[in-house]
Amino acid sequence: MSQRDIDRRTALKAVTAFGLLSTAGLSGCLSSGPSAPDSTSPALPGRGQFVIRGATILSMDAAVGDLARGDLQVRDGTIVAVAKAVDAPSVAVIDGTGMICMPGFIDTHWHLWTSVCRPIIRIDDPKRGYFPVTNALGPHFTPLDSYRSVRLGLAEAISAGATTVHNWAHNIVTPEHADAELRAMRDTGLRGRFSYGPAQGLPNDRPMDLAGLARIRRDWMPNDGTLTLGINSRNVGNDPNPLRGNITLDMARVDWAGARALGLPITLHTSGPSPVSFLDAAGLLGSDVQLVHPLLTTDAERKILAARGVSYSISPLGESRRPAAAGVIQLGELLEADVKTSLSMDHTGAYSADYFSCMRLLYNLHQHRIGQRIPLTARRLVQLATIDGAIDLGIADRTGSLTPGKRADLILVRTGDINMAPTGDPYEALVSFAQPGNVDTVIADGRILWRGRRFTALDHAVVLKEAEQSAVALRERAKWS
Ligand SMILES: [Zn+2]
Repeated sequence: MSQRDIDRRTALKAVTAFGLLSTAGLSGCLSSGPSAPDSTSPALPGRGQFVIRGATILSMDAAVGDLARGDLQVRDGTIVAVAKAVDAPSVAVIDGTGMICMPGFIDTHWHLWTSVCRPIIRIDDPKRGYFPVTNALGPHFTPLDSYRSVRLGLAEAISAGATTVHNWAHNIVTPEHADAELRAMRDTGLRGRFSYGPAQGLPNDRPMDLAGLARIRRDWMPNDGTLTLGINSRNVGNDPNPLRGNITLDMARVDWAGARALGLPITLHTSGPSPVSFLDAAGLLGSDVQLVHPLLTTDAERKILAARGVSYSISPLGESRRPAAAGVIQLGELLEADVKTSLSMDHTGAYSADYFSCMRLLYNLHQHRIGQRIPLTARRLVQLATIDGAIDLGIADRTGSLTPGKRADLILVRTGDINMAPTGDPYEALVSFAQPGNVDTVIADGRILWRGRRFTALDHAVVLKEAEQSAVALRERAKWS
């Protein structure tokens, strides 16, 4: 037995001690969705009852407030109490001493299908950068590759403290690819939106597969509330150098109307010249639209975004690597204009998932460009990474804060680790000092998915080995040297 197997068994033991391991497995917990064609779904921990005691609680809910030391009780996946002391004598206890208990991070834009491209991408060779590699390999993905890649990305998301991920799936080569990505989302146990999109290389004069979208809605939604659905759109406008397709306003009208007929939200990259003004002039913007990469918005456009209720997702780790001509991260301007704003990883093909680094980088760049003219606090950044993401994705009724009645999506962050201690203000500690290695426990929808820095359901070795197999096979199929 390898050390990893032993570690996983130890983590599992910790969970089964709470009586939380589901014997039915995940397939018994969801009402719909095609079954696995190639591998067995792991049995996720069940949703039991427990109390986290003695943690520093950052609720991100003004009515609940923060507690320097408090308890949080969970029953059947729901937060039922947050208080200085919760009276629940016969309930299993998780010791929160020396931990910050906070909502899990909410990632509002992540191309999970590109995760297995990591060993092929180079940051110092433009021919082997993220876009050339994923454009070349994308058409060669099988559904199995998609499953393994999404699962790898979500496994990393868990280890980084995310409890919700918006899967921006813009490589749906066949209907089976969509099923595979959704199955990976279901099997890992995180909350998420699946934004269905066209395959890489779909001609710009062809609409996306709206019949396929309707089929996904019928087969996978509704479920137990953990997964929601939307579409991702190809870029719209006159970008002279489009990275992934570029459709006309008329084609956008077709794709977007198809989504709206099904009551589904829309997400769109805005890399290149900003399309905000002409999208608004065409009457296409509304509160069901999320835009990504706000690097070139004007004052007038930000007023439009605020008025229409459009949200904007910022991906600081990737955006800060773009050339100056692509624009700058505009967090301060967006907050000042009251535009709904959230945080995202974009992908992990060229960097690792790290929400603490995202917050830190946003703070640094804000100070670098704007400073105190627009105040930005550490708490505001944690808000951006948690409840603001839930608002962006339209799921703030169930997640994003530690509010009694909401689902239990939360993490425990160790403050006693050498990079954190001694800890003063907890928000300062999260933004200035924390790293993913401090995330001790991750609970999504009441399921303990990560405990003592180990997966409780996913098999680390299998996730890694199968991702490596797909990376090798894709490289061969694409004849990528
Ligand atoms: Zn993106």
